[in-house]
Amino acid sequence: MAELPDKKNAFIDWYLAVVEEAGLSDKRYPVKGMNVWTPYGFQARRNLDAILVREIEATGSRAVEFPTLIPRTEFAKESEHIKGFDAQVFWVTRGGLTELDIPLAMRPTSETAMYPVFALWVRSHRDLPLNVYQVVNIFRYETKTTRPFIRIREIHFFEEHTCQVDEAHATERVRSNLAAFREMARALLLPYLALRRPDWDKFPGAFYSIAFDTPVGAARTLQIGTVHHYRENFARPYEIRYEAADGEQRYVHQTTFGLSERLLGAVLAVHGDQKGAVFPSSIAPYQVVVVPVLGTDAGDGPTKAADEVVRRLRHHGIRVHLDDGDERPGAKYYRWELAGVPLRLEVGRREAESKTATGVDRLGRKGKVTLEHLEHEVRERLTEFDRALGERAHAELVASLSVANSLDDLTGSTTVRVLSWCGSEECGHRIETAIDGGLLGTPEEPLPLPLGAPGPCVACGRSDEARWAVAGRPL
Ligand SMILES: [Zn+2]
Repeated sequence: MAELPDKKNAFIDWYLAVVEEAGLSDKRYPVKGMNVWTPYGFQARRNLDAILVREIEATGSRAVEFPTLIPRTEFAKESEHIKGFDAQVFWVTRGGLTELDIPLAMRPTSETAMYPVFALWVRSHRDLPLNVYQVVNIFRYETKTTRPFIRIREIHFFEEHTCQVDEAHATERVRSNLAAFREMARALLLPYLALRRPDWDKFPGAFYSIAFDTPVGAARTLQIGTVHHYRENFARPYEIRYEAADGEQRYVHQTTFGLSERLLGAVLAVHGDQKGAVFPSSIAPYQVVVVPVLGTDAGDGPTKAADEVVRRLRHHGIRVHLDDGDERPGAKYYRWELAGVPLRLEVGRREAESKTATGVDRLGRKGKVTLEHLEHEVRERLTEFDRALGERAHAELVASLSVANSLDDLTGSTTVRVLSWCGSEECGHRIETAIDGGLLGTPEEPLPLPLGAPGPCVACGRSDEARWAVAGRPL
């Protein structure tokens, strides 16, 4: 099998090769940007979804599911929103042979599907807060080059929508979403920056947007999630009102929290290496693969021992796969490393006789596992693997950030840049031109760098109102 392209120097080629070779997605479906989830990729997605659902439900959110199609009349009610999405919507204009009176949008996101119904659900302050989420597919007519999991036209999407009594409670919900995302990212071992997007880059219709970005090498960043505060911007056109305790009618304040299969792309991009994908054990389709090593005089010891290992680990709730195909062991090792399996257990004649297995984790660390304490030792190996993987990712995040002191300093950047900005849109655009990318925003959580007070703005030199900001080149 051919070597993977170099991750550092040819990131996108490397990424595409990993997705392909690991068998995570089949892009041969005859609609551009709409890919097939393979069994292996689907299992990773299901494990990922389980984490998102677990964490959001821990904050009191409940699952709903709204229809895919949205009447144009509803879709167009919030003017900024429709302006922002118009160029990306797939329209259904015919039902069978009949032209529809009102064209139907394939949801590109679900504000305009949900909010007319929220207006019916929310009557009194007792109906608040309303915190609901759905995990569904959305559709966006993407015009840039499509990439599996990262930029596609049918997107597996997680969206929370909430209604709160007032702005302060909505702000609190935003904080709660940031905390929930921290737990999600912790499970995926994904380091990230939480940045408040500049006004010109916020979600269409939002009061403000906070995005999570993770650096993915070569000064590129990937947006892996967003939280938006809408204030009353949607509640007014959709008339989502409630009767307050004092008898007055008030508009709700709303928030949303959006994530997608891009998180899977980020896991591949951040953790993967020159040998292929690397999955954290939380979402690995197989956490352990067991390979019996059958030499000429091995007898049936290895096969029997491998069967026992698989049976016991499965019983213990570990996702384990037995690879007893007739390929050479070396070819199997290569393939499962490419597929990102956290731990491989090899069982040959010597292991079978000594009631052990040889464990090799995806970071290449080798050690014996005894059958006597199999479940416990495998758990320990996985925990240690996750710890080391998380540490490696965090170190890469830190290495991918550096402070820039002037506009000149931004030209040809090979890292994501932290800089001082006065907050003006004009300076923001000058920064974007200099880095040939975007002003990603101002940190909502401390950056992993020793930073003092910000100096003068790198664009205009003014010191008043200067704040730290992050600039980079979104993938
Ligand atoms: Zn400035």
